[in-house]
Amino acid sequence: MSERALTAFYGGTFDPIHYGHLRSVIALARLVNLQRVILLPNNVPPHRPQPVASAQQRLAMARLAIAELPDPLFTLDERELQRPTPSYTVDTFRALRREYGPDAPLAFIIGQDSLLTLPQWHRGLKLPTLCHLLVCARPGYDDGLADERDNRWLIRWLTRDLQALHRQPARLIYCAATPQLAISASNIRARYREGRACDGLLPPSVQGYIDAQGLYL
Ligand code: ATP
Repeated sequence: MSERALTAFYGGTFDPIHYGHLRSVIALARLVNLQRVILLPNNVPPHRPQPVASAQQRLAMARLAIAELPDPLFTLDERELQRPTPSYTVDTFRALRREYGPDAPLAFIIGQDSLLTLPQWHRGLKLPTLCHLLVCARPGYDDGLADERDNRWLIRWLTRDLQALHRQPARLIYCAATPQLAISASNIRARYREGRACDGLLPPSVQGYIDAQGLYL
Protein backbone atom coordinates (compact mmCIF):
# COMPACT_ATOMS: atom_id res chain seq x y z
CA MET A 1 0.00 0.00 0.00
CA SER A 2 1.43 3.39 -0.93
CA GLU A 3 2.08 5.79 1.91
CA ARG A 4 -0.47 8.17 0.49
CA ALA A 5 -3.25 5.61 0.11
CA LEU A 6 -6.57 7.06 1.20
CA THR A 7 -7.54 5.70 4.63
CA ALA A 8 -11.26 5.75 5.30
CA PHE A 9 -13.07 5.51 8.65
CA TYR A 10 -16.68 4.46 9.04
CA GLY A 11 -18.39 5.67 12.21
CA GLY A 12 -21.66 4.32 13.52
CA THR A 13 -23.61 2.97 16.42
CA PHE A 14 -23.80 -0.43 14.71
CA ASP A 15 -26.73 -1.53 16.93
CA PRO A 16 -26.53 -3.93 15.11
CA ILE A 17 -24.14 -3.76 12.14
CA HIS A 18 -26.05 -4.79 8.98
CA TYR A 19 -25.78 -5.26 5.21
CA GLY A 20 -26.88 -1.63 4.63
CA HIS A 21 -23.55 -0.67 6.23
CA LEU A 22 -21.40 -3.42 4.78
CA ARG A 23 -22.65 -3.59 1.20
CA SER A 24 -22.74 0.19 0.78
CA VAL A 25 -19.15 0.47 1.91
CA ILE A 26 -17.93 -2.48 -0.15
CA ALA A 27 -19.49 -0.82 -3.23
CA LEU A 28 -17.97 2.52 -2.23
CA ALA A 29 -14.55 0.90 -1.82
CA ARG A 30 -14.73 -0.43 -5.38
CA LEU A 31 -15.80 2.93 -6.79
CA VAL A 32 -13.17 4.95 -4.96
CA ASN A 33 -10.47 2.27 -4.88
CA LEU A 34 -10.24 2.10 -1.09
CA GLN A 35 -7.83 -0.51 0.21
CA ARG A 36 -8.77 -0.11 3.84
CA VAL A 37 -11.86 0.89 5.81
CA ILE A 38 -11.62 1.23 9.58
CA LEU A 39 -14.87 0.80 11.51
CA LEU A 40 -15.20 3.29 14.33
CA PRO A 41 -18.07 2.21 16.61
CA ASN A 42 -19.22 5.15 18.74
CA ASN A 43 -20.52 5.93 22.19
CA VAL A 44 -23.83 7.77 22.08
CA PRO A 45 -24.16 11.12 23.92
CA PRO A 46 -26.41 10.94 26.99
CA HIS A 47 -29.06 13.29 25.53
CA ARG A 48 -29.66 10.94 22.57
CA PRO A 49 -31.52 7.60 22.67
CA GLN A 50 -29.05 5.02 23.99
CA PRO A 51 -28.12 1.92 21.98
CA VAL A 52 -29.96 -1.24 23.02
CA ALA A 53 -26.83 -3.42 22.84
CA SER A 54 -23.88 -2.64 25.12
CA ALA A 55 -20.62 -1.29 23.72
CA GLN A 56 -19.10 -4.77 24.10
CA GLN A 57 -21.99 -6.38 22.24
CA ARG A 58 -21.85 -3.83 19.40
CA LEU A 59 -18.12 -4.42 19.13
CA ALA A 60 -18.56 -8.20 19.14
CA MET A 61 -21.13 -7.94 16.32
CA ALA A 62 -18.83 -5.70 14.26
CA ARG A 63 -15.99 -8.20 14.76
CA LEU A 64 -18.17 -11.13 13.65
CA ALA A 65 -19.39 -9.23 10.58
CA ILE A 66 -15.84 -8.39 9.50
CA ALA A 67 -14.63 -11.95 10.05
CA GLU A 68 -17.38 -13.28 7.80
CA LEU A 69 -16.50 -11.10 4.81
CA PRO A 70 -14.31 -12.69 2.14
CA ASP A 71 -12.12 -9.65 1.49
CA PRO A 72 -9.89 -8.05 4.14
CA LEU A 73 -11.21 -4.51 3.53
CA PHE A 74 -12.37 -3.81 7.08
CA THR A 75 -10.55 -3.41 10.37
CA LEU A 76 -11.77 -1.97 13.68
CA ASP A 77 -10.71 1.00 15.78
CA GLU A 78 -12.07 0.78 19.32
CA ARG A 79 -10.87 4.17 20.54
CA GLU A 80 -14.29 5.84 20.88
CA LEU A 81 -15.75 2.90 22.83
CA GLN A 82 -12.77 2.78 25.17
CA ARG A 83 -13.39 6.35 26.33
CA PRO A 84 -15.79 6.77 29.24
CA THR A 85 -17.57 9.66 27.49
CA PRO A 86 -18.90 10.03 23.93
CA SER A 87 -16.46 11.57 21.48
CA TYR A 88 -17.26 14.19 18.89
CA THR A 89 -16.28 13.00 15.42
CA VAL A 90 -14.36 16.23 14.84
CA ASP A 91 -12.22 15.54 17.95
CA THR A 92 -11.55 11.95 16.87
CA PHE A 93 -10.37 13.26 13.49
CA ARG A 94 -8.15 15.86 15.14
CA ALA A 95 -6.45 12.95 16.92
CA LEU A 96 -6.31 10.87 13.72
CA ARG A 97 -4.81 13.80 11.81
CA ARG A 98 -2.09 14.11 14.45
CA GLU A 99 -1.37 10.37 14.18
CA TYR A 100 -1.36 10.15 10.37
CA GLY A 101 0.31 13.52 9.75
CA PRO A 102 -0.82 16.58 7.76
CA ASP A 103 -0.41 15.07 4.28
CA ALA A 104 -2.11 11.69 4.64
CA PRO A 105 -5.40 11.47 2.73
CA LEU A 106 -8.11 10.60 5.29
CA ALA A 107 -11.84 10.16 4.79
CA PHE A 108 -14.95 9.71 6.88
CA ILE A 109 -17.70 7.56 5.37
CA ILE A 110 -21.33 8.47 6.08
CA GLY A 111 -24.76 7.68 4.66
CA GLN A 112 -26.86 10.32 2.88
CA ASP A 113 -29.04 10.70 6.03
CA SER A 114 -25.96 11.64 8.06
CA LEU A 115 -24.86 14.18 5.43
CA LEU A 116 -28.23 15.91 5.84
CA THR A 117 -27.76 16.24 9.63
CA LEU A 118 -24.07 17.22 9.44
CA PRO A 119 -24.79 20.96 10.04
CA GLN A 120 -26.27 19.98 13.45
CA TRP A 121 -23.23 17.94 14.53
CA HIS A 122 -20.72 19.55 16.89
CA ARG A 123 -18.53 21.56 14.45
CA GLY A 124 -19.93 19.35 11.70
CA LEU A 125 -19.11 21.70 8.82
CA LYS A 126 -15.51 21.88 10.08
CA LEU A 127 -15.07 18.12 9.70
CA PRO A 128 -13.91 18.35 6.04
CA THR A 129 -10.98 20.54 7.11
CA LEU A 130 -9.65 17.32 8.67
CA CYS A 131 -10.84 14.65 6.21
CA HIS A 132 -12.79 14.06 3.02
CA LEU A 133 -16.40 12.93 3.32
CA LEU A 134 -17.44 9.89 1.30
CA VAL A 135 -21.23 9.68 1.19
CA CYS A 136 -23.13 6.46 0.47
CA ALA A 137 -26.60 6.61 -1.09
CA ARG A 138 -29.53 5.75 1.17
CA PRO A 139 -33.13 5.57 -0.07
CA GLY A 140 -35.61 8.21 1.05
CA TYR A 141 -33.25 11.12 1.76
CA ASP A 142 -32.91 14.46 -0.08
CA ASP A 143 -29.82 15.24 -2.16
CA GLY A 144 -29.31 18.75 -0.84
CA LEU A 145 -29.03 20.32 2.61
CA ALA A 146 -32.15 22.04 3.93
CA ASP A 147 -30.50 25.39 4.69
CA GLU A 148 -29.49 27.39 1.62
CA ARG A 149 -26.18 28.56 3.03
CA ASP A 150 -25.24 25.06 4.17
CA ASN A 151 -26.17 23.78 0.71
CA ARG A 152 -23.91 26.35 -0.98
CA TRP A 153 -21.12 25.10 1.31
CA LEU A 154 -21.88 21.51 0.20
CA ILE A 155 -21.89 22.36 -3.52
CA ARG A 156 -18.58 24.17 -3.13
CA TRP A 157 -16.79 21.05 -1.84
CA LEU A 158 -18.57 18.37 -3.90
CA THR A 159 -16.23 16.57 -6.29
CA ARG A 160 -16.42 13.91 -9.02
CA ASP A 161 -12.62 13.72 -9.19
CA LEU A 162 -11.69 10.36 -7.66
CA GLN A 163 -7.96 10.94 -8.08
CA ALA A 164 -8.18 14.13 -6.04
CA LEU A 165 -9.49 12.10 -3.08
CA HIS A 166 -6.22 10.16 -3.09
CA ARG A 167 -4.05 13.19 -3.83
CA GLN A 168 -5.38 15.70 -1.29
CA PRO A 169 -5.38 15.08 2.45
CA ALA A 170 -8.90 16.45 3.12
CA ARG A 171 -11.67 18.94 2.13
CA LEU A 172 -13.62 17.13 -0.61
CA ILE A 173 -17.09 15.60 -0.48
CA TYR A 174 -17.84 12.69 -2.79
CA CYS A 175 -21.42 11.41 -3.10
CA ALA A 176 -21.08 7.88 -4.43
CA ALA A 177 -23.64 6.07 -6.55
CA THR A 178 -23.72 3.06 -4.20
CA PRO A 179 -26.76 0.75 -4.26
CA GLN A 180 -29.86 2.04 -2.50
CA LEU A 181 -30.30 -0.38 0.40
CA ALA A 182 -33.47 0.03 2.47
CA ILE A 183 -31.97 -1.54 5.59
CA SER A 184 -31.71 0.17 8.98
CA ALA A 185 -30.69 -0.95 12.46
CA SER A 186 -33.94 0.41 13.93
CA ASN A 187 -35.99 -1.65 11.49
CA ILE A 188 -33.94 -4.75 12.31
CA ARG A 189 -34.47 -4.20 16.06
CA ALA A 190 -38.21 -3.81 15.45
CA ARG A 191 -38.28 -7.04 13.45
CA TYR A 192 -36.56 -8.92 16.30
CA ARG A 193 -39.09 -7.49 18.79
CA GLU A 194 -41.92 -8.69 16.55
CA GLY A 195 -40.30 -12.12 16.06
CA ARG A 196 -39.89 -11.57 12.29
CA ALA A 197 -37.05 -13.08 10.24
CA CYS A 198 -34.05 -10.90 9.41
CA ASP A 199 -32.39 -13.13 6.81
CA GLY A 200 -30.63 -11.10 4.16
CA LEU A 201 -30.53 -7.97 6.34
CA LEU A 202 -27.42 -8.79 8.38
CA PRO A 203 -24.71 -11.48 8.39
CA PRO A 204 -25.70 -14.94 9.72
CA SER A 205 -22.94 -14.82 12.38
CA VAL A 206 -24.38 -11.55 13.73
CA GLN A 207 -27.88 -13.06 13.73
CA GLY A 208 -26.49 -16.04 15.68
CA TYR A 209 -24.92 -13.70 18.24
CA ILE A 210 -28.15 -11.71 18.65
CA ASP A 211 -30.08 -14.94 19.26
CA ALA A 212 -27.49 -16.31 21.70
CA GLN A 213 -27.44 -13.04 23.69
CA GLY A 214 -31.23 -12.65 23.59
CA LEU A 215 -30.77 -9.13 22.18
CA TYR A 216 -33.54 -6.85 20.84
CA LEU A 217 -36.45 -8.88 22.29
P1 ATP B 1 -30.66 3.45 13.15
O1 ATP B 1 -31.69 2.83 12.28
O2 ATP B 1 -30.67 2.93 14.56
O3 ATP B 1 -30.66 4.95 13.08
P2 ATP B 1 -28.56 2.97 11.17
O4 ATP B 1 -29.05 1.80 10.43
O5 ATP B 1 -28.70 4.32 10.53
O6 ATP B 1 -29.19 2.99 12.64
P3 ATP B 1 -25.93 3.64 12.22
O7 ATP B 1 -24.99 2.73 12.91
O8 ATP B 1 -26.57 4.70 13.01
O9 ATP B 1 -27.05 2.69 11.52
O10 ATP B 1 -25.25 4.25 10.93
C1 ATP B 1 -23.87 4.41 10.76
C2 ATP B 1 -23.63 5.04 9.41
O11 ATP B 1 -24.10 4.15 8.40
C3 ATP B 1 -24.38 6.35 9.19
O12 ATP B 1 -23.53 7.26 8.51
C4 ATP B 1 -25.54 5.96 8.29
O13 ATP B 1 -25.92 7.02 7.46
C5 ATP B 1 -24.95 4.80 7.49
N1 ATP B 1 -25.95 3.84 7.05
C6 ATP B 1 -26.72 3.05 7.82
N2 ATP B 1 -27.54 2.29 7.07
C7 ATP B 1 -27.30 2.60 5.78
C8 ATP B 1 -27.85 2.16 4.52
N3 ATP B 1 -28.84 1.27 4.45
N4 ATP B 1 -27.34 2.70 3.39
C9 ATP B 1 -26.34 3.63 3.45
N5 ATP B 1 -25.79 4.10 4.61
C10 ATP B 1 -26.26 3.59 5.76
